[in-house]
Order: sequence, then structure tokens, then C-alpha cells
Amino acid sequence: MEVGFLGLGIMGKAMSMNLLKHGFKVTVWNRTLSKCDELVEHGAEVCKTPAAVVKKCKYTIAMLSDPYAALAVVLDKDGVLEQISQGKGYIDMSTVDAETSLKISEAITAKGAQFLEAPVSGSKKPAEDGQLIILAAGDKALFDEAMPAFDVLGKKSFYLGQVGNGAKMKLVVNMIMGSVMNAFSEGLVLADKSGLSPDTLLDVLDLGAMANPMFKGKGASMIKSSYPPAFPLKHQQKDMRLALALGDENAVSMPVSAAANEAFKKARSMGLGDLDFSAVIEALKSSRQ
Ligand code: NAP
Repeated sequence: MEVGFLGLGIMGKAMSMNLLKHGFKVTVWNRTLSKCDELVEHGAEVCKTPAAVVKKCKYTIAMLSDPYAALAVVLDKDGVLEQISQGKGYIDMSTVDAETSLKISEAITAKGAQFLEAPVSGSKKPAEDGQLIILAAGDKALFDEAMPAFDVLGKKSFYLGQVGNGAKMKLVVNMIMGSVMNAFSEGLVLADKSGLSPDTLLDVLDLGAMANPMFKGKGASMIKSSYPPAFPLKHQQKDMRLALALGDENAVSMPVSAAANEAFKKARSMGLGDLDFSAVIEALKSSRQ
């Protein structure tokens, strides 16, 4: 199967590499073109514009930072829309809001092509290991056709119905994750400031009903104030913002998420946006001094 891949950030690089390793023919594009080099060394072809990728490939996947980037890559000059046509499929795996996804869907389908949104749950390591959870919605035929690629990228693919449902599901999941990360950070800081060992707190948590891979995977490095980016904090804050907007639309009161969003905003204002989202603990530490 031949696929195009737009966006080689933390996730896109791992995902496109995985497709290559599993025998897919992959043609890549990234805004910063030099990031394509490593993929080319592993057998990928490269195009200079999103339009050129779409022209070459029947299926094109995108993995871009936010709604602005997802729209720009489709609608701007040399973008996807210039070459998408009947018989081609566009699969956007970026985390965006339902409204953005719907705009992209309308633009793609107006050209007679198929559109699927397919944001993912899981981070850098699951992307490398092909263990993502795929939250797809939109064209069911395209979902079925994309299954060989989804089987390489993920451990489970959900088909959630109409465009927007995948985006919403992803935002709900990340809203929960961002809130939990804040509670976890507060716990680590509170243990430390009240004379307890944060390492012992990790051991206690790991033996009980709240044990989870996130605490286990990130806790020890948070204690050491080390935040190599797996999921950049700026993207987690974007997801909190978009989830809160979804709450606004549906009149759902979300005080816990709103507080968590403020902590992520504070962390961004401290210049921590490109670090892992677990760096939010630094904002909590500083607010207690
Ligand atoms: P990332 O490392 O920051 O990569 C972002 C990508 O978007 C890069 O390829 C970047 O290109 C591109 N981009 C940004 N603005 C652009 C623009 N205006 N036009 C064209 N391209 C643009 O982010 P990531 O962690 O891979 O995340 C990608 C998406 O997946 C985000 O929506 C994120 O929320 C979601 N996600 C991430 C994770 C995770 O754990 N990392 C997990 C699940 C979902 P340049 O290289 O030129 O900057």
C-alpha cells in the first residue's frame, strides 16, 4: 500500500517510520523539509509540497500540531486541496476540534474525495511501537480501506460515526489526562513539601487502584525535574482549551479542567511549552513558593 504522510513531528515521524518498517511505500512532506532526511534514509520518498504528495498518493495521512496547521496544510497555496480529487482519501490524525475537522471534511468532499478524521490516543512510545488507539470518524469506506495502515499504527481502531465524533472523543480523553496530570503533580509537590518521600508516594500509588502507565512512566523523571518531550505541553494546553470550548457549547461545567488549563497556561508562560506536559509540575511548584 502506498501512503503520503504530512507532518513529521514527534508523532508523525514515529508513525511514518513504522509504516516504512512494515513494507508500506511512504512519501513524506514536512514544513521544515530537513526533517524528512531520516525518513528518506529509511526508504521514504519526499515531496516539496502537500499538493505534490497528494498528487502522487491515493491515500494521504496528516499529523499536524493544531487546528491552524491542519487547516493551512489543506487550504493554503500548494496545499492538499490543489490535488485532491475523486478516488483519493485524506486522513487527518491531528488533534483538532470538531469544527475544524468539519471544515476540512467539507473542503475535501467538495472535490469528490473521501475524508476521515482519525486522532490518536497514545504518545511517542506507543507511536513507535504501533500501539496507538485510533479514534476515527467520517467516511466508513475509507476507514475500511485504511485498516492495513491502522493495524500497523495502532492496537485498536474505533469507528465513531460522523465527522467530529473522533475529534470530540480525543478531546474528552485528553481533558481527563490533563486534569489527572495536575492532580498527580500536586500530590508529588505536597508529599515533598510536607516531609514525605515522593518516591515512596509513587510506590504506594503503583500498588493501588490508581496505578497507571502515566504515573509509572513519568513520575520518576518528574521528581528529577526532567521533561524530555513525548507530548509537548503546548499541545496539551491546546487540547484543554478545545475541550473547555466543547464544554461551553454543551453547557457542561468543568471546574477541574478549567483549573488544570490555568496551570498549563502558566507553564507555557514560564517558557515550558516545548517540554513534556508533565513539566506542568513546575508551575505548581512555583505557585507554592
Ligand atoms: P510536534 O512534534 O510539535 O509536531 C507538529 C508538526 O506539525 C510538525 O511536523 C510541524 O512542522 C507541523 N506544523 C506545525 N505548524 C504547522 C503549519 N502552520 N504548517 C505546516 N505544518 C505545521 O507535535 P506532535 O507531538 O507530533 O503532535 C502532532 C499532533 O498529534 C498534535 O495535534 C498533537 O496534539 C497530537 N498528539 C500528540 C501526541 C504526543 O504524545 N506527542 C499524542 C497524541 C496526539 P515543523 O517540523 O516544520 O515545525
